[in-house]
Amino acid sequence: MSLSFKKSQAAYEEAKKVIPGGVNSPVRAFKAVGNHPVFIQSGQGAHVTDIDGNELIDYICSWGPLIFGHNDKAVQEAVLSAVQNGTTFGMPTEIETTMAAKIIELIPSIEKVRMVSSGTEATMSALRLARGYTGREKIVKCGGCYHGHADHLLIQAGSGAMTFGVPSSPGVPENIAKETLTATYNDIASFKQLFEAYKDQIAAVIIEPIPGNMGLILPDQGFLEDLRTLTEANGTLLIFDEVISGFRASLGGAQKRFNIMPDLTCLGKIIGGGLPVGAFGGKAEVMDHLAPFGEVYQAGTLSGNPLAMTAGYTTLCELQKRDPYTQLEEKGKQLKEGLEEAAQKHGVPVSINHLGSLLTVFFTDQPVHSYADAQTSSTEAYRIFFESLLAEGIHLPPSQFECWFISTAHQDSDIEATLKAADHAFKAVAE
Ligand code: PLP
Repeated sequence: MSLSFKKSQAAYEEAKKVIPGGVNSPVRAFKAVGNHPVFIQSGQGAHVTDIDGNELIDYICSWGPLIFGHNDKAVQEAVLSAVQNGTTFGMPTEIETTMAAKIIELIPSIEKVRMVSSGTEATMSALRLARGYTGREKIVKCGGCYHGHADHLLIQAGSGAMTFGVPSSPGVPENIAKETLTATYNDIASFKQLFEAYKDQIAAVIIEPIPGNMGLILPDQGFLEDLRTLTEANGTLLIFDEVISGFRASLGGAQKRFNIMPDLTCLGKIIGGGLPVGAFGGKAEVMDHLAPFGEVYQAGTLSGNPLAMTAGYTTLCELQKRDPYTQLEEKGKQLKEGLEEAAQKHGVPVSINHLGSLLTVFFTDQPVHSYADAQTSSTEAYRIFFESLLAEGIHLPPSQFECWFISTAHQDSDIEATLKAADHAFKAVAE
């Protein structure tokens, strides 16, 4: 089987005439896999249908929001009902309080929360708050972690920026970049060195507790605990960017799974239920420094949008009700083990990182614990693998350095079909 994507190719040519690179977010252009993107018509469950009429098994799931897959009935019905009342008011609605209370109930370290419209806004605002609260200017992030595209966070960023080999972006002023220090994930000594060199100057450490933007990396035993101790000892806020891991690593995010309490948490993706939402929250004592009663300014025309709140709130309630985490963990494991077996059969060296419904296949013969390890992965092997799977109707993320997202809608039959196609894809890589 080899699918045709002629209409998508033509649509991409049209899009490029009016949209820079033909897409509204760089990774969608398939540049890292040397192809053209697939244009989507609709989605249902674990599948998307493209404009050529191909039905594809989707492991992007909108890059994480769709933990129940596409067009989940409960979420769809709630949004359809909410839209009858209007789409936005710019004045308070009760659903915002309901949503905030639900987040506080589920995420252990959050006592107060402010809603925004994207993950980028969440991290950007959390850092301003951390700087305002501590009166310090420097921040620390890890090489390979991605926290959205605000100037001070686009330094050694992962995700699209990693694939394109741009450590930071033109347009980021040097004066801003120099306030961002970079450490190495899973290497506490690299943080200690920064704290010694910049004593009493570091406002916050921002980190993906489970990095997903250099491919999936898991925290080594004790690393996050040590970081918590170190930041506390230095009067520095620890910010967990749980935009991916929130409500995915567990219902209470990575912090609940590993039992480590950050000072601030950034959320996005799943809390929007597929609509544009982000949030940041934490200790009330810190959050109360935000305007209007505090001095740190932060705002948004569509923040707390009632449709987005409805989609998000419904998703969180459904997660509580359906409790899908054991089942998702099992599906991820099944996929990982099947992929390992197929790779081994064809003599292709891979290292597969997996946690719950997140997974990355690195084309390398060494374990991947760090940004440097991830970079040993063969992007050419991934390109062949990706292309071969797509030709058989399996849509992986179009970059080596991203997570595959599994949803509750992925059935055994989807996983079996994926493994069958992966057998051919590893064969193609081996040739
Ligand atoms: N933080 C993390 C960990 C992310 O993965 C992303 C996006 O993928 C962001 C922040 C930025 O979120 P958004 O794309 O909604 O601005």
